[in-house]
Amino acid sequence: MDCLFCKIMAGEIPSYKVYEDGFAFAFLDINPIAAGHTLVLPKVHVTKLAGLEGEALSGLAAALKRVVAGVESALEPEGLNIFINQGEVAGQVIAHLHVHVVPRAQGDEVCFDVPSIEMSEKEFKEISEKITTAI
Ligand code: AMP
Ligand code: ZN
Repeated sequence: MDCLFCKIMAGEIPSYKVYEDGFAFAFLDINPIAAGHTLVLPKVHVTKLAGLEGEALSGLAAALKRVVAGVESALEPEGLNIFINQGEVAGQVIAHLHVHVVPRAQGDEVCFDVPSIEMSEKEFKEISEKITTAI
């Protein structure tokens, strides 16, 4: 499989690995937006969160919690951003699902400060019903 992250997990490409278990793998992002920026990924190659089921899903969640606890303990950040970019339009560059863990500090350069959009009462109602039905 021609996937950079699969190759990193296979040891074909070096990484600053911080954690590995049967279901997940974590290493430092090579272009960090903050010191300690870590990526946590499932061992199975899936592109979207919906591609994970059962123990692959719970294993990723458990590993994420463990890595987050490690980052918190080691670096004592004031806060963290924990997120997934899913889909090209959302900024997903590597098509192997991965969770970003970004340590934050007051006054750092990281910026997620985007303006909110206007939505009417009717739109909130319609969208919430649509999502609820789909779930
Ligand atoms: P995304 O935009 O959510 O797909 O994130 C992909 C991330 O992978 C980016 O933040 C990159 O900096 C990071 N990345 C790309 N190549 C490597 C690599 N060889 N080792 C570690 N991180 C990488
Ligand atoms: Zn992969």
